[in-house]
Amino acid sequence: KVRVRFAPSPTGPLHMGGVRTALFNYLFAKKHGGDFILRIEDTDQNRYVPGAEEYIIESLTWCGLNPVEGPGIGGNFGPYRQSERKEIYKRYADQLVESRWAYYAFDTPEEIETLRKEAEANKETFSYGIGTREQLNNSLKLSTKEVEDKIAGGEAYVIRFKMPEDTDVTEEDLIRGSVTFNTTKSLDDKVLFKSDGMPTYHLANVVDDHLMEITHVIRGEEWLPSMPLHVLLYKAFGWEDTRPRFAHLPLILKPVGKGKLSKRDGDKMGFPVFPLLWTDPETGDISRGYREDGYFPEAFINLLALLGWSPGNDQEFFSMEELSGLFSLDRVVKSGSRFDPEKAKWFNKHYFQQKAAEELAQLFKPVLEKKGVTASDEKILAVVSEVKERCEFVTDIWEQSSYFFLAPDSYDEKTISKRWKEDTPEKLLAIADVFASVSEWKADAIKEAFSAFMNEKEWGFGVVMNPLRLCLVGGNMGPDLFVICELLGQEESIDRIKNAIE
Ligand code: GLU
Repeated sequence: KVRVRFAPSPTGPLHMGGVRTALFNYLFAKKHGGDFILRIEDTDQNRYVPGAEEYIIESLTWCGLNPVEGPGIGGNFGPYRQSERKEIYKRYADQLVESRWAYYAFDTPEEIETLRKEAEANKETFSYGIGTREQLNNSLKLSTKEVEDKIAGGEAYVIRFKMPEDTDVTEEDLIRGSVTFNTTKSLDDKVLFKSDGMPTYHLANVVDDHLMEITHVIRGEEWLPSMPLHVLLYKAFGWEDTRPRFAHLPLILKPVGKGKLSKRDGDKMGFPVFPLLWTDPETGDISRGYREDGYFPEAFINLLALLGWSPGNDQEFFSMEELSGLFSLDRVVKSGSRFDPEKAKWFNKHYFQQKAAEELAQLFKPVLEKKGVTASDEKILAVVSEVKERCEFVTDIWEQSSYFFLAPDSYDEKTISKRWKEDTPEKLLAIADVFASVSEWKADAIKEAFSAFMNEKEWGFGVVMNPLRLCLVGGNMGPDLFVICELLGQEESIDRIKNAIE
């Protein structure tokens, strides 16, 4: 059975790239009738940020990426928070020491520093590995007794992986194809277990993927260099037969220029890079979120799905259901995909337009409340239906419709200078009287009464329409004037004319 995991470290808010990783894991699980699991990788206590785990879970929930196992959810392979699995890892680290795939290293930071400086003086790059094993104090050189004494005496140590010499590790990545790393050229003796009693990422990640029966590791490209070490760890443990396959997702690139999309790009160009608003617990700095910026989760998911994956035709809109049916790793590209913030808005517009006015009206109510405006449900719905077409976000509704709720407090100067004549007030007052005589306050009826009066007076429409609109909305925006009148109500329409004239 396919089992995949999303394994974030709670070191800050989840970046949209992280959400994309979660999404591709989720879709892969759905496609294959498998399990999508959440595991929190919190073994690095120095980088732990309070609130980050909650943020990750809330983000996944908002996106509809619900794990079937995870912290707070349960499952047969728990606990799902690595800090609660501490006891497990030491055993496995010791197993590797016994089989001589790993060793206790007792060297101090100063000793390493000395070697590093020596290497630099000889114009060599320092690497902790084959060359240093002889020079530093470790269990490869000491007798079992000596090692036991040191540990019993409380000497600090770490457990390091003994990287085999000059070996090519070749692995078939499900996205990149065959990838080969040479151990001596690119790999050092990585720490597996730290002096604080915690495993490092590499050990915990491999042990947990094994114990949790993960079949596919789908993660960001930044982890590709770790793949050979992980492959060797599976070998060292003797888990080669059951080990997961790897798939490394391409980067999400900046909208312009080179490199990976970062928070700074968002700040500079005015778009969020995080799913939800985030307040940094230390600095109090606030980062924008897609949710708070008014994006619908459907739009966010849709745009993320197309960052690195394509359906193979020109379809652009996908529901989660559709994606789950269509997704495949062979259609994930190797090269980075450029993020386009304008396109993100365009996606939102699509989902916005698809929503029923009733739903949008519900979403718009809190906006009105914040503005201190009260209006009947009926009016809100009618206004939303009227301006919906012109909006991409719920927040746009206010910009497009505020005059339906608030009388203008200023009038557009340009319209005044062009259209406001000496006899305009007099004409408008006459129109106000006509409005007062309309018995059924509906756009059609208002228009009929208005037109009849205009014809009788032989006044040109152009002379009256613009000033009238100015009175009602403060400028020359908005839909059909009589629709505006209907929605404002009879009394309010007349009042606005009179107030404008004064
Ligand atoms: N904890 C790692 C991260 O934060 C997980 C990498 C992986 O999926 O192996 O991205």
